[in-house]
Amino acid sequence: MAKSEGLMTEGFMAAALAEARQAADRDEVPVGAVLVIDGAIVARSGNRTRTDNDITAHAEIAVIRQAAAMLGQERLAGADLYVTLEPCTMCAAAISFARIRRLYYGAEDPKGGAVESGVRFFAQPTCHHAPEVYSGLAETEAASVLTGFFRSRRAPR
Ligand SMILES: [Zn+2]
Repeated sequence: MAKSEGLMTEGFMAAALAEARQAADRDEVPVGAVLVIDGAIVARSGNRTRTDNDITAHAEIAVIRQAAAMLGQERLAGADLYVTLEPCTMCAAAISFARIRRLYYGAEDPKGGAVESGVRFFAQPTCHHAPEVYSGLAETEAASVLTGFFRSRRAPR
């Protein structure tokens, strides 16, 4: 990545981390995502599964829905998705179906991830579009938002 591109990438991941923190404030598992087209954020969300009583309302799905609705199109070719945690199988499939160009994520998720962990969705012959993947962005911060959240939930209130 060029240096200026690296700085923009940092800013987008910081925006995704802000969404993750807001999700924690709603007592959601703190994962955040932003969707970027032509260098601008067009959608942003944290996890909303509890808020919406919708098990599919992961941050990645939420930003894909927002952007597709706004643009009035089902696919988002040329869009880049930034998410604080390695996407799960459901989200990896949605990212593929939406034709997302690049996927940037923070912390790896050995228990639930599907990019470099688990089923490695994008590497399967049944996957017909794979984004370029950049992992480990702001990894320490992305992971600490999650561990902080689960630690606080285990602590007696
Ligand atoms: Zn997911």
